[in-house]
Amino acid sequence: MTAGQTPPRLEIRNLVRVFDGQRVVDDVSLTIRAGQVTCLLGPSGCGKSTTLRMIAGVEMQDSGEIHVDGKLICDTMFRVPPERREIGLMFQDFALFPHLSVAGNVAFGLKGSREEKQVRVEELLARVSLSRHIDSYPHQLSGGEQQRVALARALAPRPRIMLMDEPFSGLDNRLRDGIRDDTLALLKEEDAAVLLVTHEPEEAMRMADEIALMRDGRIVQQGAPYNVYTRPVDKAAVAFFSDIN
Ligand code: ADP
Ligand code: MG
Repeated sequence: MTAGQTPPRLEIRNLVRVFDGQRVVDDVSLTIRAGQVTCLLGPSGCGKSTTLRMIAGVEMQDSGEIHVDGKLICDTMFRVPPERREIGLMFQDFALFPHLSVAGNVAFGLKGSREEKQVRVEELLARVSLSRHIDSYPHQLSGGEQQRVALARALAPRPRIMLMDEPFSGLDNRLRDGIRDDTLALLKEEDAAVLLVTHEPEEAMRMADEIALMRDGRIVQQGAPYNVYTRPVDKAAVAFFSDIN
């Protein structure tokens, strides 16, 4: 089965968010499938994080619908609360709980018996090569290690959808490519559908199965990275991609 035939995991339809009379998210529709990384790519201020927050349920849209596995989870009348959306979140600053150990952070959103949680925590920490830091605290870790804890924590409850907002921007340039590749490998092993927000074309080209190019609140082009890169929709898209070297 090709990716195009798998049923959509996440569908957003005609999402609109207005701030101060301005449509910062302006009629955005997107379909995301399991096992795929979709990059929402665009310059700072174009509405990427607002779109992500509406999908997570921490921000309410003014109009439009969100569906997960074909079921409506949010429109203007009805809303499944964020904690019941089976969505994993990862942000630029990682937002680890400083007072919890690495194990405590990864176990945070887990349900089940103590033993079940421990098995999942140990499995994920081994997978991200942090077993020896299981009892460490976030401040004792490097930026790259904190990123891996945040990734393990977000994936621990086996989310249906993984939302990542600029999750590599805070990292040292030297480490970033390796961490991107490691993250991508782990995401592909898990069953999540991934929506990755970035303002860096290079990152989208490296990680995406599909790119949705966003500008001024709208998706102006969508497709496979190679197609979006080689057939830019307009001069602004050419300029935006010319940053890649
Ligand atoms: P991006 O993530 O692409 O950089 P954002 O979604 O954060 O963009 O922001 C899009 C626009 O909406 C920006 O102009 C921003 O200033 C504005 N904005 C975001 N959140 C709010 C808010 N809570 N109140 C008012 N304006 C906001
Ligand atoms: Mg943002």
